[in-house]
Amino acid sequence: MTPNPSLKAPTHYGSHAWPLGRLRSSSAARPSASASVAGLARTLGLANTHIAMPALRGSCQCGSVSFALSEQPTEATACHCVQCRKQSGHFFASVNLPKAAVSIVGEQYITWYQSSPKVRRGFCSKCGSWLFWEPVLRDWTSVALGSIDGPTGVQLERHIFVASKRDYYAIADGLPQNER
Ligand SMILES: [Zn+2]
Ligand SMILES: [Zn+2]
Repeated sequence: MTPNPSLKAPTHYGSHAWPLGRLRSSSAARPSASASVAGLARTLGLANTHIAMPALRGSCQCGSVSFALSEQPTEATACHCVQCRKQSGHFFASVNLPKAAVSIVGEQYITWYQSSPKVRRGFCSKCGSWLFWEPVLRDWTSVALGSIDGPTGVQLERHIFVASKRDYYAIADGLPQNER
């Protein structure tokens, strides 16, 4: 999908969102069913049952905020927009997940910065680690890939807002690049 043309560049609402539309639609119906099947399989000791059991976990640098993802993310983007640049000091690589699939511990340590009317960015109040990018009116959130511990199981699929990237690095991975 392409960015919504009705949204102007500087406000950058939802730029992470558009490529992930199919994630939201395809995964919406599955989490509870797969979780209950997985739980049943564990209860029954079915070690050989092939059920996806994503157990991605992550945290901020100081550990005050940690999270677990109950779904395996399937797409990842790198956003080079001005706001992500300023917030991260570089660019922001993230995955989108339904909010219900992100369990947070230490939520009281998160400061939410409302970077535009429809988007807020969550970072640890103690150590400053930027963890979440969230469209307030939608039911999903972007989770910073760098905050995840261990293998993520995903690969970057595209770069977005490359028109705003700075000159000190090159994007040479051959992935699609969206100007916005
Ligand atoms: Zn922290
Ligand atoms: Zn961005």
